[in-house]
Amino acid sequence: MNEQANNWGTERMDGPSYRPRRLRSNAIWRDALADVTLKPAQLIYPMFVRLGKDLRRPVASMPEVDQWSPDRLVERVTELMGQGLQQIMLFGVVDQDEKDAVGSVAWDAERSPVIAAMQAIRQSGIGPDQLVIHADLCFCEYTDHGHCGALTNEGSWGGSCGGGCGEGVKSEKLKVKSGGSAKPQAAGTRAGQSRGGNMWGGVDNDVTLGMLAKQAVALVRGGADVVAPSGMMDGMVGAIREALDSAPDGNGNGFSQVPIMSYAIKYASSMYGPFRDAGEGAPGHGDRKGYQMDYRRSDEWAIELALDESEGADIVMVKPAGTYLDVISQVRQATALPLAAYHVSGEYSMIHAAAERGWLDLQASAIETTLAIRRAGADLVLTYFAPRLLGWMKEGAL
Ligand SMILES: [Zn+2]
Repeated sequence: MNEQANNWGTERMDGPSYRPRRLRSNAIWRDALADVTLKPAQLIYPMFVRLGKDLRRPVASMPEVDQWSPDRLVERVTELMGQGLQQIMLFGVVDQDEKDAVGSVAWDAERSPVIAAMQAIRQSGIGPDQLVIHADLCFCEYTDHGHCGALTNEGSWGGSCGGGCGEGVKSEKLKVKSGGSAKPQAAGTRAGQSRGGNMWGGVDNDVTLGMLAKQAVALVRGGADVVAPSGMMDGMVGAIREALDSAPDGNGNGFSQVPIMSYAIKYASSMYGPFRDAGEGAPGHGDRKGYQMDYRRSDEWAIELALDESEGADIVMVKPAGTYLDVISQVRQATALPLAAYHVSGEYSMIHAAAERGWLDLQASAIETTLAIRRAGADLVLTYFAPRLLGWMKEGAL
């Protein structure tokens, strides 16, 4: 008898006949019945590369994440491959004076840090059968305005800020074409938004498609095994597929064998905050709500999924992951395509920050969060925790 309970005057009651706790009572049962698992091959590690030599620059808002020069990136990748790493995603970081209105550095093999890194990896003898290189395909890290494509005339600049000016100053310099049929956006807190007009949503979709096509071919020529368009332009998958298939390379079929992993379902999220530190691609003005999805709409993912499937996406992605598990789960039910989910910078840094304060256990919460993303239905998880997770797998902790 439980005397402590008796002392409080409570009585043992007749319990239920079925008790789920029976199978939780033994670690062997728990392991045997755990069907949500994680393999090293399912992890994609996002990495940041910038031109230079012997560079390793820590990202202040993302513990254990760095910007690497190509030579150091090769060393780091080699080290992590020893832990089981098989897939990486590359993001390029360039100095402000390399940026222009269209982000032309992105398709320039002489100036693109991503292309330099891919070449360095391949020259070191690491083949595609050992490491799959995904190349992020967007322009926000390369344009001087920080948006994911070329701006429309409505959104274009009256002048260049040279990168150092604040938001308020920038909005004064904008040439705003008011009127027309452009619908004012919902009231925003940004200086520019409050003026109404569509200037902030102003990335020119179809001009950007041509730019994406050009960058995709350059990235694949540079060694990308997978291209991953992230800019949420309408028609981006179709345009990239067509450009790759018709590129004057390969055996008469262009790059028809190169898969596209589309950031198909990507929400405009506050969770990307630390990434902008890492990629140095924060929009100089406005936000990305004019092209990324609105998290207040519960069914729009179905439209984006259907379009990307019809345009030939090989893998579809949901981003962010940890705060969009419901979306991952629904997309999983709706498609047979492989599904990736991106556990983004803010989700990563929150766990680190809490762990630093002793409020969460880093290992336990990182593993639980990653397995939750898998349980929701993701085949592949893009995560900055990849090095840690691989280490914990080696130790047998997951
Ligand atoms: Zn972008």
